[in-house]
Amino acid sequence: MNLGIIGAGATGLTAAWDAVRAGHQVTLLEAAGELGGLAASLEVGGVPLERYYHHIFRSDKAMISLIGELGLSDALRFHRPTTGIYRDGRLIDFTTPLDMLRFPGFSPLDAVRFAGSSAVLKAVRGGERYNDLTALAWLRRRAGRRATEAIWEPLLRGKFGDRAEQVSMAWLWARIHCRTFELGYVDGGFERVYAALRDGIEERGGKVEFGKAVKSIRQADDAAPAVVTCADDSRYSFDRLIVTTPQPAFARAAGLPADDAVWKNQYLGATCFVLELDRSVIPYYWLNINEPDFPFLAVVEHTRMIDPSVYGGRHILYVGNYVEREDWRFTTEPEELLTAFLPYLRRVNPDFDASWIKNWHFSKAGFAQPVVTPEYRSLIPGHETPMSRVTLATMAQIYPQDRGQSYSVEMSRRVTASLGLR
Ligand SMILES: Cc1cc2nc3c(=O)[nH]c(=O)nc-3n(C[C@H](O)[C@H](O)[C@H](O)COP(=O)(O)OP(=O)(O)OC[C@H]3O[C@@H](n4cnc5c(N)ncnc54)[C@H](O)[C@@H]3O)c2cc1C
Repeated sequence: MNLGIIGAGATGLTAAWDAVRAGHQVTLLEAAGELGGLAASLEVGGVPLERYYHHIFRSDKAMISLIGELGLSDALRFHRPTTGIYRDGRLIDFTTPLDMLRFPGFSPLDAVRFAGSSAVLKAVRGGERYNDLTALAWLRRRAGRRATEAIWEPLLRGKFGDRAEQVSMAWLWARIHCRTFELGYVDGGFERVYAALRDGIEERGGKVEFGKAVKSIRQADDAAPAVVTCADDSRYSFDRLIVTTPQPAFARAAGLPADDAVWKNQYLGATCFVLELDRSVIPYYWLNINEPDFPFLAVVEHTRMIDPSVYGGRHILYVGNYVEREDWRFTTEPEELLTAFLPYLRRVNPDFDASWIKNWHFSKAGFAQPVVTPEYRSLIPGHETPMSRVTLATMAQIYPQDRGQSYSVEMSRRVTASLGLR
């Protein structure tokens, strides 16, 4: 079969890899100039580093299995990095269950309710029971007002802004239930996984083409091929097409205007600075910012998990955000935005000085985080589309789990199997 795939992220590359191995002729079209989609990398000290902080969990079986297939198991290492919360002007350890029980301001009853509700979410197997509930309403009832106000609400507000109250409990359940304390990272970065997929595809005669922003997808009738036109006016005909772009990009290219409007509201954008520093800024890998006036959500010091020597001695700090695409933090020029963020880094570490930053990078993605509400389930489009040869396999179809590389790999494999392409 002459198979076209749009998008060289985890979903598209996995589909292409499986299909070429099954003997299909594969062409993968990617708008950007790089592999990996949201998990794409830049370089620090000559070593690939994800544009947005990335790790996997022990429970990410599909990704772990893919890494194994590509012969990279030895490079996948699990770490137990530390977590903290910045709140009321101080850093609070939040790594172990004991840290959580000792959270400042918690009475013994608050601690028990917080721990008990988290244990319930870890233990409950099917998350369907939470489908129709919002997370904050459930948490206020089960974890208690104080734990919700101190921990959960700032996290959800940081991530979803004004939409925090609408976030589904099924989504939060999946995050807590499926995640592990141990975090996996591939030595040399996840780029190695994506590069190995590309190499494997190309060695088997598949094509991976960059700079191919698809602007139109059409199929005249069931017997006709799927015809793809790119922004550079190149055209391709395929017996079968798998589209892995964000849903609005598909809706636009396929001429589905109504869906476009609906789905536009379902994603937040992401912005992220990578700061290359000559020293460490925070004593943790992951620091949640639980202060409502901060303009960013989390600070992740990657080199608290991976040794700075890997990056030529540079300490790497991510400053990340999920925001609406109209938000000033999405639209402001990076240099100005960084200047606006610096005083807040100084609040986290009063010694921090801009001179510590030796280099920095900025990335943003318009469709980075689906906002999963109780209604979300009913809005998820099927993999089938109005065009019989065109299949949609996109991040927004993952439910109730939060998006992640492993879920993309799993979905991709389910879709290619259902199409008889594996
Ligand atoms: C800040 C942040 C942190 C994250 N942290 C983690 C983590 O720790 N662990 C984890 O596993 N996951 C994490 N993720 C999620 C993970 O990156 C995604 O779930 C995964 O990479 C999605 O892969 P995908 O292929 O489904 O979609 P995408 O990566 O979005 O790939 C879609 C591809 O389609 C291309 N495309 C779009 N429009 C067009 C067009 N018109 N024509 C051609 N190509 C087009 C895009 O350029 C892109 O390459 C994180 C994401 C973000 C934003």
